[in-house]
Amino acid sequence: MEERKVQDTHKRSLRDLRISVTDRCNFRCIYCMPIEEFGPNHCFMSREQLLTFEEITRLAKQFVRLGVEKIRLTGGEPLLRKDLPVLIEMLAAIDGVKDLSLTTNGLLLKKYAPILKQAGIQRINASLDALDNDIFTKMNGVGVRSETVLEGIEAAVQAGLKVKVNMVVKKGMNDSQILPMAHFFREKGITLRFIEFMDVGSTNNWKLNEVITSKQIHDMIHSETPIEPIAPDYAGEVAKRYRYVGTQAEVGFISSVSAAFCSSCTRARLSADGHLYTCLFAEKGTPLREFIRSGASDEELFATICGTWEKRDDRYSEERSSYYEQGKQRKPIEMSYIGG
Ligand code: SAM
Ligand code: SF4
Ligand code: SF4
Repeated sequence: MEERKVQDTHKRSLRDLRISVTDRCNFRCIYCMPIEEFGPNHCFMSREQLLTFEEITRLAKQFVRLGVEKIRLTGGEPLLRKDLPVLIEMLAAIDGVKDLSLTTNGLLLKKYAPILKQAGIQRINASLDALDNDIFTKMNGVGVRSETVLEGIEAAVQAGLKVKVNMVVKKGMNDSQILPMAHFFREKGITLRFIEFMDVGSTNNWKLNEVITSKQIHDMIHSETPIEPIAPDYAGEVAKRYRYVGTQAEVGFISSVSAAFCSSCTRARLSADGHLYTCLFAEKGTPLREFIRSGASDEELFATICGTWEKRDDRYSEERSSYYEQGKQRKPIEMSYIGG
């Protein structure tokens, strides 16, 4: 079978694939699925709309032939997808997949951590935006307490999974939690990564003045406990890594707004209903599900994915300011749909 290292119009390779396995979620985070927009009447994908595990695996194999080595499962909340461990086993068995990971809000992690590990997940990113429950319950929109997520994180560590924690910082909402979270996870020896609040989708009412930049967060932490930069783990790593001076404990910053990293973005996204997106901020994807269901061969799928990547010229984060300055109207798809 032909293998090809494909490049887009800016000479970026295809290395990572994020697969959204469901658009449903058991949280309603204010910055992702605000309850006013994702209420009881919201229409989620039906079972028939979702790619089956066989379809996902077939597509993943074509991505691997084109250079993908890392696959991350996401959503929505991926742990809500029925029989997920079966899919994980199928993906882990693909020759060429070097890294299989999952991003979760942690609510069901305590129950699933050992099963995920056994099925073949190597790394988990758990999202947690605050320790303080007045803040956390408000941010997740459904009243889940931070202890529940912390128990999930603990279970993942106990199961032998590599764990990192992601915190989205929104000004006026959880900035008071930056130092307590940094302190808590430094003591635990778990890497905490701060993510700048992004203008994904069109329902989270994003405003630039609600972004606390990585530099601001860095300076807050550094003035309390000195940190120093360390080399990236691999080329194109999205988070900038730092170490608390004199320790092995790390902290990271994902500066999607203040220091865009489009020039090294090697990531494709597959939505739960089988659209291929070449950017988190894309407005349109390449529909693959009907193509598969109409009998497309592996070679035809391979050629379609290859052709889509070769045409890719996305660099939204680098161009963000010009979009806002010129008042250009955009309607990017929601993060819960495309997978964060
Ligand atoms: N439900 C899972 C979770 O929350 O971890 C996986 C999907 S979620 C869309 C993936 C990541 O995107 C989470 O870490 C979340 O905090 C982040 N995210 C969602 N909306 C965001 C926004 N507007 N700005 C920055 N990060 C965001
Ligand atoms: Fe759900 Fe994750 Fe979005 Fe929160 S960030 S609403 S947990 S998909
Ligand atoms: Fe990649 Fe698009 Fe994000 Fe740029 S804006 S880093 S191209 S996903």
